[in-house]
Order: sequence, then structure tokens, then C-alpha cells
Amino acid sequence: MAGEGDRLFFALWPDSELRAQLARRRPSAGGRAIIPENLHLTLVFLGAVPDSARDALTEGAASVIAPAFEMVLDRQGHWRRAGIQWLAPSRVPGPLQQLHRQLRSVAMTAGLEVESRTYRPHVTLARKAPPGAEGELVPPIHWVAQDFVLARSSLTSEGSRYEVVGRWPLTLPDEASPMF
Ligand code: ATP
Ligand code: MG
Repeated sequence: MAGEGDRLFFALWPDSELRAQLARRRPSAGGRAIIPENLHLTLVFLGAVPDSARDALTEGAASVIAPAFEMVLDRQGHWRRAGIQWLAPSRVPGPLQQLHRQLRSVAMTAGLEVESRTYRPHVTLARKAPPGAEGELVPPIHWVAQDFVLARSSLTSEGSRYEVVGRWPLTLPDEASPMF
């Protein structure tokens, strides 16, 4: 898109093993299942980012200091408006909330507008789907987050495709608080 800039978002990006686990939980019928390659957890949605804001964004991302963490996806459900079938943690880990907050502030510092709605971390499994499984996710899925990414969303003839355009590590716990 000339002039407008890339459509970007910060996200947690599953590795291939986790991606396969998430893919298996997609509803088998009804709606549009998210293709496995696109499964992710959005941290902050940015929308069209002017090229002039890009450096501030990546410099801000590089300056984020947040610990690595584990999250347990133990809930599943459906949001009616967009027909989103999702997985989510019943307890939002402190470091996830902290990461979200820092990346929001990185976006604002880069001059971008960000949503003020309460952050509800989730993995979208399908869109335009009829109500599916709701409640406890058994067995739960354990997600160890050791880094976060900047992803670019582009529209192709086969729908939206996401591409990782930047990746930054989360601080390892034993770096933050040495045991010896
Ligand atoms: P499409 O919009 O073409 O159906 P999509 O929603 O998968 O496809 P994007 O709209 O680029 O692709 O969204 C990228 C990610 O950001 C998705 O996880 C999406 O749920 C999330 N997202 C999109 N818009 C918003 C928004 N306004 N607020 C929060 N998250 C958003
Ligand atoms: Mg969208």
C-alpha cells in the first residue's frame, strides 16, 4: 500500500510444536479456520504504520525489558460479533500484562494510536464461526514465551498472511535474578 505503510502488530509467535498443538484445537467445521501458519497471540495491534514511525517502533521494541514467562491456555470460547472461536489463559501472567503495557507505550512514543480497550489476550482459532466449545480447555496448552515479534499482515488472494519482520528476546529469569 503506497504511502500508508505496512499493517503491523506485536505478537507472541508459537514455535512449530506449539503451533501444531494450537492447530489441533481449531473447530473442524463451520466458519473460517485460521491457517496454522497464522496462529499467534496479539500483544498490541498497530494498524498501518507510516514508514517514518518504523525506526522509533523497532528501537522502542529493542529497549523493552520484560521477563520470559509461562502462560497456560486453559479456557476456550466464542465471541458472537465476529464469530471468533478462541483460546485464552484464565490468569493473565503479570509479565504478559507488563509486556503489553510496554509495547503500548512504545507505539505511543512512535506517534501511533493504540486502543484503550481492556487487553484480552487470546489466540483466534476461527472467524465467522458458529458458537463452538466453551469453558475449560482440557488438556490445557502450556506456552513458554521467550521472545516477542513484530508481524506484518498482508492481504493475499488466499486471505491475510502474516510475516515476522522483527523479533526480540524476553529476559531470562536467571539473568534477572542470579541464583549465585
Ligand atoms: P482480516 O482482517 O483480513 O480478516 P485478520 O484480522 O486476521 O484478517 P489483521 O486485521 O491484519 O488480520 O489483524 C492482525 C491481528 O491483529 C489479528 O490477531 C487481529 O485479531 C488483530 N487485530 C486486528 N484489528 C485489531 C484491533 N482493532 N484491535 C485489536 N486487535 C486487532
Ligand atoms: Mg482484522
